[in-house]
Amino acid sequence: MIQTVRGVRDIPPEESGRWSFLEERARRIFAQYGYRELRTPLFERVELFSRAVGEATDIVEKEMYVFEDRGGERLCLRPEGTASAVRSFIETSRHRSLPWRVFYMGPMFRYERPQKGRYRQFHQIGCELFGPEGPLADAEMMALVLRLLRAIGIGAAVTLEINSLGCPVCRAPYREKLVNHLESVRSRLCGNCQNRLERNPLRVLDCKEEDPALLAGVPHMRDHLCAGCESHFQGLLTHLDRLALPYRLNPLMVRGLDYYHRTAFEAVAGGLGAQNAVAAGGRYDGLVAEMGGVSTPAIGFAMGMERLLMLMDESLGAPEVADLYLVAVGDGVVEAEAVRIAEGLREKGIAVEMHLGGGGMKSQMKHAGRSRAPLAVIIGQDELTEGVATVKAMESGSQERVARGELDGRILALLGRSIG
Ligand code: ATP
Ligand code: MG
Repeated sequence: MIQTVRGVRDIPPEESGRWSFLEERARRIFAQYGYRELRTPLFERVELFSRAVGEATDIVEKEMYVFEDRGGERLCLRPEGTASAVRSFIETSRHRSLPWRVFYMGPMFRYERPQKGRYRQFHQIGCELFGPEGPLADAEMMALVLRLLRAIGIGAAVTLEINSLGCPVCRAPYREKLVNHLESVRSRLCGNCQNRLERNPLRVLDCKEEDPALLAGVPHMRDHLCAGCESHFQGLLTHLDRLALPYRLNPLMVRGLDYYHRTAFEAVAGGLGAQNAVAAGGRYDGLVAEMGGVSTPAIGFAMGMERLLMLMDESLGAPEVADLYLVAVGDGVVEAEAVRIAEGLREKGIAVEMHLGGGGMKSQMKHAGRSRAPLAVIIGQDELTEGVATVKAMESGSQERVARGELDGRILALLGRSIG
């Protein structure tokens, strides 16, 4: 017996309705904001991610699924979606006007230690917006994120946190200040962060291992922004206030890479432990140029579907239930006629579940009950001879005989739907 790979799992039919519900809500809201779907390959060249995500990140250093194909190309399963979106933007940008708004949803792959809310194949929904430079774009994207969280019923469970990361100009002197400060407490940092101090000191700030007291005294980027970055951040706060969008300033939220500019935001939930971030986003004005395109401001976010689903109410996206269960009791002729009736009803848009062959009345009615369909339609030898069907409303138990020619109309009426 061959089992699934560690950190990877099926989404069984009992659960997939919840996934579809989440995806449908997301699609609906993305459309409201003018985003269209971009479908990118599940694997790409390794260099795409080492450059776009950055060499000194956890993803590139230790989480990518890298393999060589039979032609000797070094490829990898995509660990995230932004790199491919940027590649796609650059490859086709000559023929396009800005802004370019795209969304994606689908599996991502990271070799991580599996635990609750952390898997090796997981799923993200994300948006990328290319073109607009001002804080209005940032505010609109946050409005979209909050609207989606509310649409799946978890608006109140999640807090939007924001910060500014400055730009390469004001970040360089800040980084120096930060390193000086961290050097003075070096021996108290975790082993990982002692290494980060040289390569990626900003990441120390959002390290989950550090003692909060130790981080309490660090200098904040927020207090070292240049005039342009400060006015962008103030502009964003003003827009958020005007839209009455709730947020919390988090001066310790960082991204470790130079192409991240200004706005960073996260949606965090209580009760998910270290896996508390359901969405992470930010402005990456330097990335398109870094990847060889014409410098273009951009902003995006990605949310983890597994974590959203953990917060979503159980009742949302429950599996679809058929409109009726067709019970056919009799010989092959009765069964064949019942299948024809089922097809006729489906032709009218009615969802029919049917026990395909065998089983007496009692056992089939049990299946009908288990299916949770509101109606059962019973076809037996008598019904066949008389040209009728017995229709039973499962909840009240009331039964009626309906002429075959009137069956679809009567069923639609019982379902509270109009004909046609
Ligand atoms: P974390 O700090 O939890 O590792 P991250 O910074 O690596 O998150 P991003 O790369 O910003 O996460 O991805 C955006 C979102 O994708 C996260 O906020 C989270 O909801 C989800 N996510 C990331 N990695 C995983 C994973 N291995 N399993 C499930 N969800 C994940
Ligand atoms: Mg991670």
